Amino acid sequence: MTKSHLLELKDITLNYHTLKDETKALENITMYVDTKEFISIVGPSGCGKTTLLSIIAGILKPSGGTVTLNGKPISETKNQIGYMFQRDHLFDWRTVLQNIKLGLEITHNKDPKNNEYLHELINKYGLSEFIGKYPHHLSGGMRQRVALIRTLVLRPEILLLDEPFGALDYQTRKTVIQDVSSIITREQKTSILVTHDLSEAASLSDRIIVLSKRPSVVKAVFKTNLRSIPNIEERKRTDEYKQVVDDIWKELEN
Ligand code: ADP
Ligand code: MG
Repeated sequence: MTKSHLLELKDITLNYHTLKDETKALENITMYVDTKEFISIVGPSGCGKTTLLSIIAGILKPSGGTVTLNGKPISETKNQIGYMFQRDHLFDWRTVLQNIKLGLEITHNKDPKNNEYLHELINKYGLSEFIGKYPHHLSGGMRQRVALIRTLVLRPEILLLDEPFGALDYQTRKTVIQDVSSIITREQKTSILVTHDLSEAASLSDRIIVLSKRPSVVKAVFKTNLRSIPNIEERKRTDEYKQVVDDIWKELEN
């Protein structure tokens, strides 16, 4: 018997239908993700990256193919996927604490253990002094940290990140990437990041999946050992990093 992966996508196709025409977004996507892996998905703009994440999240049903989590069809699993977007989607009229509790409220999760975990995360990641504050009092970086903690509270099996750093300015971006990446590693979360930034993909991931132009297929997969180095700027100074960026770039160009 072959060992199964945490997440498996097999021959996924997706066609968008409008009244007038049809868009073939995904042609044939087969990929897997193992527990605790950090995977990046890169590809040209409009190639179907967000579409692919929506399928993994179970929000969108593929036109063909199968998605399984722990060997079960994704449609039969619930609340096991967490999502983080470019915009943090914090509610301005709720305090930080109320924002972090939102996920538990929506899912009607009243288990006291979750409340304990929530406070554990708040303390561990230095949010205690902010819990009574409103989002507009926080820096962009701190807002993303709150958004991440809010997602982690629900103990998702997989964390999906759709260009979560895209809206941040250059300086904040570096700090936030280091912050989010350290938290994910410390909490041992399996993650899938969609990004158009090759440097981000190469420096953060165990594996990088390169998609082709629409209709998308998996063009190449690259592996790195860079996550063994805690500091991201240090990772970027290695030859391995430079080689991987080069390889991804060549793959995207041809
Ligand atoms: P990416 O995230 O890689 O930029 P998307 O997954 O958002 O790409 O979109 C892939 C393709 O599908 C694009 O051509 C886009 O215009 C099209 N598309 C996305 N969402 C819809 C939709 N709801 N209806 C029709 N076409 C869509
Ligand atoms: Mg997108």
